[in-house]
Amino acid sequence: MRPKLVVGNWKMNGSRANNATLLAGIVAGVAGLDAAKAACAVCVPAPYLQQCADTLTGTQLAWGGQDVSKHASGAYTGEVAASMLADFGCRYVIVGHSERRAYHGESDQLVAQKAQAALGAGLIPIVCVGETLDEREAGQTNAVVTRQLTAVLELLDDAAIERIVVAYEPVWAIGTGKTATPVMAQEVHAQLRGQLRERSAQAAEKVAILYGGSMKPDNALELMAQGDIDGGLIGGAALKAADFLAIIAAA
Ligand code: PEP
Repeated sequence: MRPKLVVGNWKMNGSRANNATLLAGIVAGVAGLDAAKAACAVCVPAPYLQQCADTLTGTQLAWGGQDVSKHASGAYTGEVAASMLADFGCRYVIVGHSERRAYHGESDQLVAQKAQAALGAGLIPIVCVGETLDEREAGQTNAVVTRQLTAVLELLDDAAIERIVVAYEPVWAIGTGKTATPVMAQEVHAQLRGQLRERSAQAAEKVAILYGGSMKPDNALELMAQGDIDGGLIGGAALKAADFLAIIAAA
């Protein structure tokens, strides 16, 4: 049985004062969490990683970045290296979020290189895949997510693949209040699991596949009850301690 994983994606939100209240609320609520059954984390804007390291070290709440450079170091103004995220105690980093793919033109190959860089620094990359509304309506959902995951599987060896997390995030469901039904989401998760299995049966058993896209306290239980949905990547609902804790409780 894979443990559930619930990860908050704060996106470009937060302030030192608000973060302090939010983090304290989450930490208090997850104090007794059984790590063998469920784990949780927040992926925060890079300037707040030190605040996470100061506040969360020794708690049940892990933390991570929202993006990483494919480069190890050097003349790449504005980029953050995987080793730097590791230096601030990150366990996770999101790669290939649809907002990065759409607004920063990130290709499947670049996302795969970022996942590889993250793994090289001992981080767990949360590899996001997902179709747009047009792609879903054109019946291309499976082809799109397969193509996105293929780029990652082509670059990594089997041992590395076992260490990734995949997040299925239909673009039309992110921040829109529209959620994929549990059946729709499970169908894509099963397809992704099948793709992993074709490569390595062991990876298919180990890799957590999260659902993301307007997951809320009132739909989390049903989504996470599906056989191939191992948790959630949470945007809006991760900004309120009560909502985020309710989703963790559902896991
Ligand atoms: C996300 O940004 O990854 C996300 C799933 O956002 P939301 O929960 O707000 O749809």
